[in-house]
Amino acid sequence: MPLDVDPRELQGAIRLAQQLAQPVVQPGGHLHWRAVSIEQQRLDDRVFPLPLPLLLTGELLLSVSERSRRLQHDLSRGASGGKEAHVIVVGAGFSGIGAAIRLRQEGFGDLLVLEKAPQLGGTWRENTYPGCACDVPSSLYSYSFSPNPGWSRLFAGQREIHDYLRTTAEQYGVDEALRCDVRVLRAWWDRSAGRWRLETTDGDYSSEVLVMATGPWHRPRRPEVPGLAEFPGPVFHTAQWDHTVDLAGRRVAVVGSGASAVQVVPAIQEQAAAVHVFQRTAQWILPKPDFPVPRALGWCLRHLPGAQRVMRSAQFRMQEGFGYVFRHPRLVRPLQAAARAHLHLAVRDRRLRQALTPHYTLGCKRLLTSSTYYPALAKPHVHLHPTAVSAARGNRLIGADGAQAEADVVVLATGFHIGELPLARRVHGTGGLTLQETWAEGPAAYLGTTVSGFPNLFLLLGPNILSGSTSAITVLEAQLTYLCAALTHRRQGGYTAVDVKPAVQAAYNTALQDALRTTVYDAGHCSSYYLSPTGRNTFSWPWSTGRLIRSLSRFDPAAYTLQGPPLPSPRSAPITPDHTRPGR
Ligand SMILES: Cc1cc2nc3c(=O)[nH]c(=O)nc-3n(C[C@H](O)[C@H](O)[C@H](O)COP(=O)(O)OP(=O)(O)OC[C@H]3O[C@@H](n4cnc5c(N)ncnc54)[C@H](O)[C@@H]3O)c2cc1C
Repeated sequence: MPLDVDPRELQGAIRLAQQLAQPVVQPGGHLHWRAVSIEQQRLDDRVFPLPLPLLLTGELLLSVSERSRRLQHDLSRGASGGKEAHVIVVGAGFSGIGAAIRLRQEGFGDLLVLEKAPQLGGTWRENTYPGCACDVPSSLYSYSFSPNPGWSRLFAGQREIHDYLRTTAEQYGVDEALRCDVRVLRAWWDRSAGRWRLETTDGDYSSEVLVMATGPWHRPRRPEVPGLAEFPGPVFHTAQWDHTVDLAGRRVAVVGSGASAVQVVPAIQEQAAAVHVFQRTAQWILPKPDFPVPRALGWCLRHLPGAQRVMRSAQFRMQEGFGYVFRHPRLVRPLQAAARAHLHLAVRDRRLRQALTPHYTLGCKRLLTSSTYYPALAKPHVHLHPTAVSAARGNRLIGADGAQAEADVVVLATGFHIGELPLARRVHGTGGLTLQETWAEGPAAYLGTTVSGFPNLFLLLGPNILSGSTSAITVLEAQLTYLCAALTHRRQGGYTAVDVKPAVQAAYNTALQDALRTTVYDAGHCSSYYLSPTGRNTFSWPWSTGRLIRSLSRFDPAAYTLQGPPLPSPRSAPITPDHTRPGR
């Protein structure tokens, strides 16, 4: 039979089959095995270009489906104790789960997902504050390959989104590959073996390909406020909500007025005796068309073929409309007028309205949506302090303008360290430098995904790939298409390392920064998390989402240095000896 199988994969698969067979055969005495035929098996919609079936000890012929199941299971655990895989994904939020699903669909079943927390979910596991919900409609803020006709609201809440992620992971069998409570501490490229080595809280792991899905909105930012450490009551960040604290009848100070604040303030003011909001910068806020999904619409979404696709596509276009405006700031005025009208209708007090009116171009910071924030601020027991908090004295928070507020509880709605990839200081590339050291001027990548000098490393939701308008899941799925295409190209060509050329990355980033210059993100006269401390925009994609999807729709080998020849056995490569490990 003619073979359409990469010889390296064939070798690797035979070795793996040997390892898989050992526990079955060894008790009976000697182990003999031979491959008797090779075929490309399609199992459970996944393509396994593996040499199957194998005849073991002349008498044990595992059935194809059983072998597939065991092979997958053991591959995902790593046949030698769960520490090696073809692909390791770090992080089990939307990105890591999505990557595992798509990679398995494309035949890359030998993968592990390492997650430091006890369960998957990322953003939607961590952020359990009252009122937490998405601000992109749920039918767009979900995987296109796993639509959910059962969303209860147009913008689902945290618990529902977390449930959706858990259910999707289970449906697609990601659980088999998931290793929770495993924190990646450090990773480095082992040039001689052509593999990534990982130091984790669960010992050493290694893989040919490393996918970083650690999320931009992950590390809570806590403001440095003198005296706050001595505050006598509970102080916690919205992403680390303390559910043991009862807010009923308490005075709550909320520090911050961004995306989390506009959700949490309306939710907590119902119980709290008083709420003090410290606002450093006023935000542009449009009404949020959030409502329970009407029964008729729910029925259509469940029963009419294509209804969900139509809704998703309509929402995509609407978000793209915002994106177009943000790229052409002169068109922003009607949106600003709508936001001002929204403010005017909700807040009758002129001084409060003035304090809530932003003085920069809409879109320069993330545009917020809420129909409940302004009405909450207009209530007599909710007080806006249009100032940053500069100090805490006892149970009093002091504003930079001298304003003071007594509180029993402090909620930090102060966002995240967006521009810092959590592991950037601990991922070492070919020259031993970390990503952070390579990024002296702020994070930069090629198509937000690959970084020169870091072979076989793929960043999900990396630098300059997101925008202030569209769903992060749309961007993520485009990246996953690129990731799968890159790995398929690598597999077909038998390349050990795929490394974007420095000149390609540099030229791409020059064009990108040029294009950003005229967008509202760069030209809107505000400071935002889109900009690094050096003033360079390391967050935003400057073109349309359509262009982003097209750019990532196929792998472009000419942009990469493709290294061969095929490696010897990956599994015979020992875990890196200590002398190759970078210093701490
Ligand atoms: C409150 C809130 C609301 C949001 N709403 C929207 C929205 O409406 N629309 C939108 O597009 N975006 C929204 N976002 C952005 C959101 O973060 C992304 O849409 C998306 O969920 C990111 O998924 P992720 O998997 O990339 O990252 P995350 O969800 O952050 O997951 C990263 C995972 O990596 C794990 N991890 C990190 N470091 C390590 C390590 N060293 N070892 C092992 N594991 C590690 C973490 O524990 C985490 O589980 C929101 C963000 C927040 C905070």
